[in-house]
Amino acid sequence: MEFCPNCGKMLMPKKGMIKCGCGYEKSLTDDDIEKQYHMEGETKPQSKVIVTDNKNVALPTTRITCYKCGGTKGYWWTVQTRSADEAPTNFIRCAKCGNTWRSSN
Ligand SMILES: [Zn+2]
Ligand SMILES: [Zn+2]
Repeated sequence: MEFCPNCGKMLMPKKGMIKCGCGYEKSLTDDDIEKQYHMEGETKPQSKVIVTDNKNVALPTTRITCYKCGGTKGYWWTVQTRSADEAPTNFIRCAKCGNTWRSSN
């Protein structure tokens, strides 16, 4: 909110200009306009977006026998297919060579 320096009236900005009945004129800078908007509008705090990288998620380990390298330590996780009728699929990844396959359960 601005007040006229000549007569003290409250000034309402229009189209980037301030005009007072007494003849006082002022063109608003972008900075002035921004201040005006911030006063009138509610500023919502920007919600932080948390980005997770699946590669860094610690997966549970299990004892396996990798058919490629013979490794015995593997990670497993479950993927629910889009169809709710189908049972979720378990995947196994060899910790040694990265070989990934579906678990037969
Ligand atoms: Zn005035
Ligand atoms: Zn392996």
